[in-house]
Amino acid sequence: MKKRMLTGDRPTGPLHLGHYVGSLANRVALQHTYETFILIADVQALTDHFDRPEFLRRNIREVVKDYLAVGLDPTIVSIAVQSHIPEIAELAIYYLNLVTVARLLRNPTVKDEVRQKGMEETLSAGFLCYPVHQAADITIFCADLVPVGKDQLPMIEQTVEIVRRFHGLYGDGVLVEPHALVGEVDRLVGTDGQTKMSKSLGNAIYLSDDDKTVTDKVMRMYTDPTRIRATDPGHVAGNPVFAYHDAFNPDKAEVANLKTQYEQGKVGDVEVKRRLARCLNLFLAPIRERRMNVNDAMVEAILEEGTRRARCVAEETMKRVRSALLSLP
Ligand code: ATP
Ligand code: MG
Repeated sequence: MKKRMLTGDRPTGPLHLGHYVGSLANRVALQHTYETFILIADVQALTDHFDRPEFLRRNIREVVKDYLAVGLDPTIVSIAVQSHIPEIAELAIYYLNLVTVARLLRNPTVKDEVRQKGMEETLSAGFLCYPVHQAADITIFCADLVPVGKDQLPMIEQTVEIVRRFHGLYGDGVLVEPHALVGEVDRLVGTDGQTKMSKSLGNAIYLSDDDKTVTDKVMRMYTDPTRIRATDPGHVAGNPVFAYHDAFNPDKAEVANLKTQYEQGKVGDVEVKRRLARCLNLFLAPIRERRMNVNDAMVEAILEEGTRRARCVAEETMKRVRSALLSLP
């Protein structure tokens, strides 16, 4: 039997370059090796978008189109909608007893997100507990591998703790301890130079952006703030334009050359950006083309079938969990 791989995305917007390098590339590469489940985490997205359910509903379709566009094959990959698998919520209820509030408040990603979203005074129980729900997402599919970006590592750590606690209390062998697999670039910076490209921060280049939009976003990108003229020596480290060249320009010699010239003040920002825009558009061209071949009816059929398959697996796991916990005397 193949081992399982599970990942998810929040339907808070279309997918971007950060998703690709952080997680999607690994999913595509491993889809034939692992039995793969992908969860569209609408319940998790509600924890900070509870007032905008229609916005999340709309985005589900776009996310599925992005999956197919990057080359995930729905005949072997099950794409499921989290809210349609109520077993996950049931499992999360049991897990909530195994985690302290203090531990959740210490979770570095939760801390960052609370700060970023200005939720210090309004933090809901739902948002605070989302790592526990995520542990349920991962373990209900008995996932061995979870391809994620670096921001998600604390969630996998939390999941492993829960699995060990569960086994210590109720007996071994019910659940599977997951392993994280981070992408080639574990955290792609935003176009504004912020540490993470994110749907919520307005600093993303989307996989579905057209040629002109990509070029405009690149030309407006944050670069080296200490550089006034093209003849000033520039800084490569911490410069997002070069981080993107490293991630998406297949011509490594060109990148090395541009970096040297930049540091010596021999090439301008405009030229470095122009070449980046060209690389990104070349990278995105086949993705855009595949996306054009996907229609709404296909998306609906894929979600229906994927959710059905996912639910069968979830129900199997829950049978084991229920009998470990609360089987009748
Ligand atoms: P939101 O702002 O709503 O949280 P997001 O852009 O962070 O959206 P998620 O749906 O939370 O996207 O993340 C889905 C997956 O993509 C996760 O595994 C996450 O680690 C990865 N990921 C997201 N952004 C990046 C990034 N900039 N670099 C690398 N991986 C990323
Ligand atoms: Mg996120």
